[in-house]
Amino acid sequence: MISSVLPTYNRAPLTFVKGEGAWLIEADGRRFLDLGAGIAVAALGHANPTLVAALTEQAQNLWHTSNLYEIPQQTALANALVEASFADTVFFTNSGTEACELAVKMARKYWFDKGEPERVEILTFDGSFHGRSAAGIAAAGSEKMTKGFGPLVAGFVHLPFGDTEAVKEALSDKTAAILIEPIQGEGGIRVLPDADLKALRAICDEAGILLILDEVQCGMGRTGCLFAHEWAGITPDIMMVAKGIGGGFPIGAVLATENAASGMTAGTHGSTYGGNPLACAVGNAVMREINTPEFLAEVNRKAGLLRQGLEGLVASHPDVFTEVRGMGLMLGLKCVPAPGDVVAAGYQNEVITVPAADNVIRLLPPLNLTDEDIAQAFARLDATAKTIENALL
Ligand SMILES: *Cc1c(COP(=O)(O)O)cnc(C)c1O
Repeated sequence: MISSVLPTYNRAPLTFVKGEGAWLIEADGRRFLDLGAGIAVAALGHANPTLVAALTEQAQNLWHTSNLYEIPQQTALANALVEASFADTVFFTNSGTEACELAVKMARKYWFDKGEPERVEILTFDGSFHGRSAAGIAAAGSEKMTKGFGPLVAGFVHLPFGDTEAVKEALSDKTAAILIEPIQGEGGIRVLPDADLKALRAICDEAGILLILDEVQCGMGRTGCLFAHEWAGITPDIMMVAKGIGGGFPIGAVLATENAASGMTAGTHGSTYGGNPLACAVGNAVMREINTPEFLAEVNRKAGLLRQGLEGLVASHPDVFTEVRGMGLMLGLKCVPAPGDVVAAGYQNEVITVPAADNVIRLLPPLNLTDEDIAQAFARLDATAKTIENALL
């Protein structure tokens, strides 16, 4: 008999009942070090007092109105994001998937309004992940996500990850935009080199097409810059954000230049919940915490510590781990065994990591984890490697 919860997940037999910073407490009392942060969502840790205060204060006043009215919390968050980024304008969603939907619609409407309605194609890349909606799975294009769900939304062209030559060849008078993650998350922490991101920007400029970046996982301070593309010194035309921006409260956003957003006039898009007072009260608190030079400097310092220790782990357990990859606190360990087995061995040692494609486990800890948490990460990942080695004997 089917479970009451639709069985689309293979769930680990763990039930967390409380969170404190980088720690999750299981129903049986065990304390797990959370290096997954709910897949890069709990960017400021669990039960962060500042976020709890922002949420509860707003909850006592007003949860929801509608985008039919002015929402000051939403305006404040949009202003903060515009101030801190390339963007001139922001639309709020409830998730990364919905941000992807709008990014696609925005790019197509841009060309429609420019009198080139045939420009609908979006160039995307192998190993990418843009969410589970009809357009999101078509954008990613992998068999794993799309099989059985056809007919797929048309207009996506799939190319090898970051292959700028393939991009040049794929350009045509149907091309509307390029859509890419600066660092693939689900795809296995695959970093697009700065030079390739710059090359994609140059291709877009030359062809006059739009560059859409999916920073749902790599954005919001995760790499040590507010947004990952800042490292390459370029800016996109459209950017998707979600995960970390709500610190655990569901909220996403599409950021865009005035030019890229020019087709999105009144009545062309909407959302019941997107940008409601509760979500934006939390989003504002997250932005205030993350978007300071001091906070981002700390992310970079901790990232250096973590990376160094992980390199040591690879050196001492070459039969388990072969490579550290990633940037900032978006790190991957390439595994010899199946990543699911390594994650499960981690559970035995009370440490949480997240599997990804390309035989990688992901480390996406809260950005404000402490040095003591990092020391615990090394101890627990070392114990995890030993668990695997003992099983191999
Ligand atoms: C998680 C993710 C999404 C989808 O976000 P949801 O909030 O799950 O809809 C899209 N793109 C990337 C890069 C992601 O990591």
